[in-house]
Amino acid sequence: MHILHTAKFLKSAAGLRDMPPDHGCEVAFAGRSNAGKSSALNALATHKGLARVSKTPGRTQLLNVFVLDDERRLVDLPGYGYAKVPIGVRDQWRGMVDGYLRSREALKGLVLIMDSRHPLKDFDRQMLDFAAAIAKPCHVLLTKADKLSRNEATRTLNEVRKELGADTEGAAPVTVQLFSSTAKTGLDEARKVVSDWLELPSAGGRPAAPPTPAHGRS
Ligand code: GDP
Repeated sequence: MHILHTAKFLKSAAGLRDMPPDHGCEVAFAGRSNAGKSSALNALATHKGLARVSKTPGRTQLLNVFVLDDERRLVDLPGYGYAKVPIGVRDQWRGMVDGYLRSREALKGLVLIMDSRHPLKDFDRQMLDFAAAIAKPCHVLLTKADKLSRNEATRTLNEVRKELGADTEGAAPVTVQLFSSTAKTGLDEARKVVSDWLELPSAGGRPAAPPTPAHGRS
């Protein structure tokens, strides 16, 4: 079983102070509303209702935390939509997301979900700037790729890679792939990136857990 399958909703945090303790490894997910972020999270975790909580009114401007185990978490960052967002709301969003990204030591990387038909909008560029500012890797999922022909999808992938200066070797801080939650394409590639980021460091990492003694009950 893939570790992402163990994801469970922990809480919606109103800000950094409300987040679980800053230890272990965390991967954050961001995307404009309707880009397909909840569907991508659900597909990666093979858990249909997992990210539904992020859609609950009132929780859409919160940091939604999912735990995999004691040391690993996924964090669903709030996005915003197509419509012009009032400046106050955008400033509040920026303050919270930027604050989280800048100060969170457990954060190992950012997955940025873009609709492959409309990539690199202002929101996406802002997130890429945030990731670059903190020198943390960013992996772009160009989702809804099932809505494009094979040629269109390849062209979009190449254009976005070129624009972001991403190379296919994975050495660049920004990597890009095609993805579809509906057609279930790109899942293995995305899971590999996320699980590599979530790996605890081997040097100084936790020793292997001793076998758990069987307890009498049940
Ligand atoms: P979010 O607002 O970013 O969390 O977006 P959702 O995951 O709720 O998806 C927004 C809409 O796009 C929904 O109607 C989804 O069914 C649809 N959608 C999401 N991912 C895909 C995909 O890979 N392919 C297609 N065809 N539709 C998708």
